[in-house]
Amino acid sequence: MRLTILGSGAACAGAGGNSSGYLVEDGGVRVLLDCGHGVASSLLALTQPAEIDHIFVSHMHADHFIDLLPLRFAVTKDMGGLPERRGCLHLPPGGRAALTQVLSAVSFPSDFLETVWNVREYQPGESYTLASGLQVRLAGGVHYIPGWAIRIDGSSSLTYTGDTAPSDAVCELAAGSDLLLAEATLDEPECGAVKGHLTASQAAELATSAQVGRLMLTHFWFDTDRQAVADQAAPHFQGPVLVASDGLVTEF
Ligand SMILES: [Zn+2]
Ligand SMILES: [Zn+2]
Repeated sequence: MRLTILGSGAACAGAGGNSSGYLVEDGGVRVLLDCGHGVASSLLALTQPAEIDHIFVSHMHADHFIDLLPLRFAVTKDMGGLPERRGCLHLPPGGRAALTQVLSAVSFPSDFLETVWNVREYQPGESYTLASGLQVRLAGGVHYIPGWAIRIDGSSSLTYTGDTAPSDAVCELAAGSDLLLAEATLDEPECGAVKGHLTASQAAELATSAQVGRLMLTHFWFDTDRQAVADQAAPHFQGPVLVASDGLVTEF
């Protein structure tokens, strides 16, 4: 299994950086997890956009889906028209209605995305089998809006937290994963009643509880000190701690 970081930024990535986007390749299947700002252009450097088989959107915050619009242009331009083989766009429950509103607001036709992708809404808790036997499962996290963590099992296993505060459901989903791709957005833990993100320490504690093989931290603000993030996580997880950066490729 190969993971390519297309975007490791949060809602405002650093200069020249991208928001959330992760390409997972295994058994000839290409899966894109989230598609935030800048991800579509970065994807062009790696592959033909029409060859993305599945796109999963973790939740409907702009830094996780807004580049679906330019990516759709890339697919049709790449193919000289509508593609023969259509990938599948998996949205969270309610995602289709949210995208319809976005498309209306920017004066795009309501079927803009559906002409190139089979668009569906996933059901958390269900298990999906993709080509080559890849299994996908999802679990609801703790965020400001409904958000989901995504696990892919193939030749190896990867769990991506999406955006979440500490969550038993995400921990359960991630159990035993070879790699946990965990958000580490915060400098300090949230202390109010409303929670939605992790610190690097909390991400490492999640990795320990879930007994994963290695931890990769991601979803950073433009001014995040990434070495400090790694240092913060290390005492809380015995295994390797990696720090995502745009363009980083990891095989595991
Ligand atoms: Zn986010
Ligand atoms: Zn979010």
